[in-house]
Amino acid sequence: MASIDMKSIVKQYGDGFPAVNDVSLDIADGEFMILVGPSGCGKSTLLRMIVGLEDITSGDMVIGGKRVNDLAPRDRNLSMVFQNYALYPHMTVYENIAFPLRLSKTPDDEVRRKVEAASDVLELKEHLERKPANLSGGQRQRVAMGRAIVRDAEAFLFDEPLSNLDAKLRGQMRTEISRLQRRLGITTVYVTHDQTEAMTLGDRVCVLRKGKIQQVASPRELYEQP
Ligand code: ADP
Ligand code: ADP
Repeated sequence: MASIDMKSIVKQYGDGFPAVNDVSLDIADGEFMILVGPSGCGKSTLLRMIVGLEDITSGDMVIGGKRVNDLAPRDRNLSMVFQNYALYPHMTVYENIAFPLRLSKTPDDEVRRKVEAASDVLELKEHLERKPANLSGGQRQRVAMGRAIVRDAEAFLFDEPLSNLDAKLRGQMRTEISRLQRRLGITTVYVTHDQTEAMTLGDRVCVLRKGKIQQVASPRELYEQP
């Protein structure tokens, strides 16, 4: 688990208007931070700079007290859950969850122990031998989270994870993500367009506009003010 501290973060693509323009934001250990704002305000770019998939033009990205600007994604020990979940179709649920551990050459017995523990928390134990194509959207989401859990990732990053799901499943997954996040106490940054998600999931909500922070507040302060 780690805090994420951003100091004067700027992202300039080419010579246009900065996509992220002097953002300073401290996310505490175990906090659930929501990023909201209109399309094009810089939410995804900020998330991608946290995980290391996008270079930072200027400013400091500090994770768990360590400046990570020059660290590759794999050395940041964060876990991004993509909208399409990025699961491997030819692998079983077990192998999908185990994948990061295979990459790091973890011994088989430890792989088994970690995958079993994660699938227990995620209620995937009965599905370990199935392939992603035979899972529901919600189950696929949980597999993606399982991968993050086995790596003991220091933070979860979500980029509109529920936007492809129907309303019913979205409601279930919202509850599930909230429950898991509380249970694991893992620092989470979550991009969404959905006000219900922002209100029910977030400890705090950061509103971005044209690459700048417009407001950071609790959901209550933000949505119940006159
Ligand atoms: P959001 O996630 O809030 O919709 P983005 O972070 O995707 O916003 O985009 C912020 C701004 O940066 C937009 O103006 C977008 O067009 C621009 N942008 C995003 N990615 C790139 C890129 N790879 N190259 C150039 N401009 C980009
Ligand atoms: P390579 O270094 O061979 O190009 P990648 O950059 O695809 O490989 O991924 C290397 C490692 O970086 C992966 O094992 C993974 O742990 C991590 N990684 C890549 N993308 C992400 C991401 N979006 N979220 C978290 N970790 C990532």
